[in-house]
Amino acid sequence: MTTIAFIGLGHMGLPMARNLLKAGFNLQVFDLVQTAMNELTQAGAQPASSALQAAHDAQVVISMLPASRHVEDLYLGNSGLIKALEPGTLVLECSTIAPESARKVHRAASARAIDMLDAPVSGGTAGAAAGTLTFMVGGAAATLEKARAIFAAMGKNIFHAGPDGAGQVAKVCNNQVLAVQMIATAEAMALGVANGLEPAVLAEIMRQSSGGNWTLEKYNPWPGVMENAPASKGYSGGFMAELMAKDLGLAQEAAQVTGSSTPMGALALQLYRLLLKQGKGKQDFSVVQQLFVE
Ligand code: NAD
Repeated sequence: MTTIAFIGLGHMGLPMARNLLKAGFNLQVFDLVQTAMNELTQAGAQPASSALQAAHDAQVVISMLPASRHVEDLYLGNSGLIKALEPGTLVLECSTIAPESARKVHRAASARAIDMLDAPVSGGTAGAAAGTLTFMVGGAAATLEKARAIFAAMGKNIFHAGPDGAGQVAKVCNNQVLAVQMIATAEAMALGVANGLEPAVLAEIMRQSSGGNWTLEKYNPWPGVMENAPASKGYSGGFMAELMAKDLGLAQEAAQVTGSSTPMGALALQLYRLLLKQGKGKQDFSVVQQLFVE
């Protein structure tokens, strides 16, 4: 049976690891936070005292860490995994990080004949728990075929975005569109309500008209319009504004590398930074609505 080392058991990693256990994989797990490991140990995973120990004798390593620096440290740092892993090990790096960081790890892995994919996800904590994540994969197509059954245990849609780093590029493009749509929707909701419209009526008209978009379908930022949206629960749960700001920053970095013009993404990043300054970074990213109401 395949043994997988799973590193990083946070909001996303924990439910993803649980789904791998359910699918019958052997799991060796590590997180800096002991309580996350305890939960998985009870479900049948083997706890480790370091990432290196978790990866020992594993055929596959999956990481789900906060940001680029954590990933570079895990794989390329002083006691980095790339030096320690056996050639032929499969590395699936699922965090959202800078495309250039992903490519750095790809290069080091390739030099040691380690197969690596960058495979960031979309679908949030609900998708992670339900096993319906979307994986955006960068790397060799043949490596993706080796990893397909593992992704399928955690997700529903598996896209090959292109070569090394392409998964991360797809992810930052997608999240930039999401942020811009959310801000535009919040701005229009505030405009309509200030001019006397009922929020639910305006939301439904726009949803079914040419302004319709994902945030109007699934995630309206105006409190009370959608019962299950974070906006109706005090902007709790969902996808934190500080993570959106991180992803918008990554999009700007990627644009810098290629000299691409991304004015909407730049403005979206500035608005999310403002929210962070207001102490709203831990709230759902639809809290951007509050920038437009008195
Ligand atoms: P999180 O902060 O909840 O989890 C990260 C985990 O990594 C924590 O448990 C932390 O203790 C652990 N960690 C940090 N450094 C470590 C190290 N050196 N060794 C072992 N463990 C370490 O974050 P999350 O919400 O699970 O997000 C993880 C990644 O997925 C991020 O890159 C995020 O942008 C991305 N993402 C998140 C969501 C979401 O809705 N939360 C959706 C899509 C993608």
